[in-house]
Parts: sequence; C-alpha cells; structure tokens
Amino acid sequence: MIGCDGAHSAVRHLLKIPFEGGEYQQAFLLADVETNSGVPADEMQLCPSELGPLAIFPMNPTRRRIVATIDRQEGDAPTLELVQRILAERAPIGLEARSLHWSSYFRIHHRVAIDLRKGRMFIAGDAAHIHSPFGGQGMNTGLQDVWNLVWKLDLTLRGHGNEQLLESYCAERRPVIKQVIETTDLLTKVMATPNKFVQAIRNTVIPMVSHLSPFQHAFVQRLSELGIAYRSSPLVEGPGKRYLEDSMRGGNGIRSRFLVLIHEDENIPLKTSAQQLCAMFDGVVEFRSSQKPGITLVRPDGYIAYETRGHDTVASLDAVRSVLERHTAN
Ligand SMILES: Cc1cc2nc3c(=O)[nH]c(=O)nc-3n(C[C@H](O)[C@H](O)[C@H](O)COP(=O)(O)OP(=O)(O)OC[C@H]3O[C@@H](n4cnc5c(N)ncnc54)[C@H](O)[C@@H]3O)c2cc1C
Repeated sequence: MIGCDGAHSAVRHLLKIPFEGGEYQQAFLLADVETNSGVPADEMQLCPSELGPLAIFPMNPTRRRIVATIDRQEGDAPTLELVQRILAERAPIGLEARSLHWSSYFRIHHRVAIDLRKGRMFIAGDAAHIHSPFGGQGMNTGLQDVWNLVWKLDLTLRGHGNEQLLESYCAERRPVIKQVIETTDLLTKVMATPNKFVQAIRNTVIPMVSHLSPFQHAFVQRLSELGIAYRSSPLVEGPGKRYLEDSMRGGNGIRSRFLVLIHEDENIPLKTSAQQLCAMFDGVVEFRSSQKPGITLVRPDGYIAYETRGHDTVASLDAVRSVLERHTAN
C-alpha cells in the first residue's frame, strides 16, 4: 500500500513515522493572475524586497503564478487589489495584473519523514515531504517518489524483486528529498532575510551569477529535477544519473524491464554473451543495441545502474550480472 494522502497523511500518523523539520514564521499568498507581457514569458523572476520576497512563475505568455510572503491576511483570500499592490511594491516595473483566476493564503512547513516504508506500507508525495513553494518542487518531487517506487513494487509482485530492492526506495529518495528541502529552504531564507548585510550581498551576487550559463544550467537541472542522481544508492554502481538518449524518448517500450545496451559496433561474441546474460533474467532484462559506446545497464525508471566505457568487456558483463542480482536475487 502506498499512502499518497497529503501533508496531514493519516497513513504516516498511523505508521508513527516522525515528520522532521520546522515551520516558517511567514504567511504566504499565492495567486494565478492574467498579466500584461511586462516581463519575459520564458523566465521565472525571483524578486527580493525589504517587504518580503516575491516569485513570479510564467504559466503561459500572459498568465502567471505569484507567490509572496505577507505580513497579515486581508479577508479570506487575496484580492486582485492586494496582488496589484504587491506587484507594484516588489515586481519589476511594468508588470501589471489584470484579472485573478484564483488565489489563496497558506502557511508552510519544511519537513521530511524519517522513513518512507514500514513493511508492506510506503508513503510518497506530500505525505513524505513538504517544503517552501519557492522553486515549485512539491508536486514534481512526489511524482519522482512514485516513479522510483512503482517498478520496484512491480518486480516484487512478479516474484523478481527482493527486500533490498524495496528498502532502496527510502535509501534513494530521502537524500533527494532532503536536497530539495535544503535548496527551497535556502532560497526562501535568502530571499526573505531581514539582515541588511546579507541583503546587500544577495542583491549584488545573484544578478551577476544568474546570467552565467554554468549557474543557469545547474539551477535548471536542480529545479527541473532532471539532475536527480542516485549515486549513494546501495543498488547502483557509479553516479546513478538518468539515461538520456534520443532512442529512449518517451520510455520507448522499456516497461518494467532493465535494458542492457551495447554499442552496435561491439564484437559478436560480446553481444552473444550479453544476450545469454539477459536470457538468464527472463522477463526482467532486455538486450538492445545502442549508439553509445561501451555497456550500459538502464533501470526500468530510466536511471543508469551501471556503465562502462572500458575494454575489459568480460569483467563488465560480470559487473552487470552482479548489479542485476543485487536488484533481483532472492
Ligand atoms: C499554494 C500551493 C502552491 C503550490 N505550487 C506548486 C507548484 O507550483 N509546483 C509544484 O510542483 N508543487 C506545488 N505545490 C505543491 C503541490 O501542490 C503538492 O506537492 C502536491 O499536490 C502533493 O500531491 P500529493 O498527491 O502528495 O498530495 P495532495 O495533493 O495533498 O493529495 C492528497 C489526496 O489524498 C486525499 N486524502 C487525504 N486523506 C485521505 C484519507 N484519509 N482517505 C482518502 N483520501 C485522503 C486528499 O483528499 C487528497 O486528494 C503547491 C502547494 C501549495 C499549497
């Protein structure tokens, strides 16, 4: 059973899993508004201010999601007038809100469950972690939890998975979740700091580094969650990054199988040995030719469990077998 029952998860409470972390003092406002095209539609804007931080996320050329801290609530839900006032005080000059789609006040915590599993029961999504909305990571992180878990459950239900495979859900996801919380927490604190000295450094450094392409790349990798890697996983050899290749777009029929990918120009005996290895894990492992050099073992979730560009191909196939056994042997 997977408890995906949100931040107040009854499943987490019943399993008595502690939810570590704290609460932010500030209250937040969120509003989806129709705007003019006063700021670029393909960029998000993070606007620090002495009145509190403001984040502007583009949803389409004229629709934007506004997140801001507020000192006190005015009415049950933020009005268009309040959003316009906040934009006038904190947003780049020229951005105007014209109508309001919906809006809400909320308070938030930054917390992570100390375990994501008890026996046959798992928790995922907001039931397992909650954090600041600066960065828009909440839903994405929950989806990644479930993506990490479902193939492991599927293999287990089909009689191929083992205890270590199920345990790896928490071992792999908790470090990623903690990193998301640290990033969004840092972003929230730096944006909201009342300390004048820190404000001065922030206001000088962020505009400079945010235009550098290494920073932009790292930031996008982190916020898009494409940069997730399971390098500390007990199941994975190497950095545990996502396998990104054109032939794998949309999953390309990977289903709940591992792929052993061997470069198309490799010699026939090696390919035959690899096919024999795949046959030993019938229904779990598939052999495919690839344009990437060397040997790569890709997991059902698209992450690399093992790869080598070396020439000792017999040793490499032994390593592939060993990693597969770690996932599947009972
Ligand atoms: C104001 C705000 C703005 C956000 N903006 C973003 C954003 O821009 N990007 C982003 O990625 N994330 C954002 N998030 C976070 C995102 O909404 C959540 O991370 C995400 O919805 C969590 O999904 P979930 O399925 O884990 O939990 P939920 O969406 O909370 O769903 C849990 C479900 O379980 C049901 N449930 C609860 N208890 C029981 C029970 N006992 N029995 C049966 N059903 C039960 C609930 O009714 C609910 O339908 C935002 C959150 C907030 C509050």
